[in-house]
Amino acid sequence: MDIPVEVIPPATTVPGSNSVTDIIKTGVSDPCMLAAIDMALADGLQNTIAGVFNQMFAGTDEFTIEFHEGDLPLDVSADTRTASPAIIEITLNRLTLPGSSREYIVATILHEAIHAMYDAKWNLAGRPKVIFSEYVQHNLMASKYVEEMNAALRSIFPMMSDADAIALAWGGLYWTTSWSALNPTVANNYLLAIAEYDQNHTKGNRCR
Ligand SMILES: [Zn+2]
Repeated sequence: MDIPVEVIPPATTVPGSNSVTDIIKTGVSDPCMLAAIDMALADGLQNTIAGVFNQMFAGTDEFTIEFHEGDLPLDVSADTRTASPAIIEITLNRLTLPGSSREYIVATILHEAIHAMYDAKWNLAGRPKVIFSEYVQHNLMASKYVEEMNAALRSIFPMMSDADAIALAWGGLYWTTSWSALNPTVANNYLLAIAEYDQNHTKGNRCR
């Protein structure tokens, strides 16, 4: 088995002003997912998440995120792929997300939007010959974004507990160095808390 080489970009000395300038939602028709996209973008992505991103990456690149909906495997909430160097497509799973809580959908969108910004920055940098796999991105997210994701979720959903927001912020980061370093009981509690918000449970704000 190949052991991925982890390459963490050095923190830039001059904060960047990279930005998501266009959000295209015409590929989404489900009203639950459309509402969640708006919630995720207003506070979380534009301020909190973009702020952390610019602490890591210099430059003034402009990215477009295009949202789509599609039938994905039931254990996959969303998928992110490059459409062109600065245009990243995020496909949201219409089989599971509309029945999930808004909190879960927003956390998924924030997570995928970070992938999208990484991918776009990577493409625009000419894909330097270092690995920037999903594994590496997840390790970066686990080390840099959990607190910011937590803050973004608390600001979007003021009624949500800190514990639940932190758990949702850890969603999808399970095979990372930081996750392995968690106390196993704490990690298991995060998994249980996340599950409460999914399509098979009832916690959180629901639109169905
Ligand atoms: Zn991910």
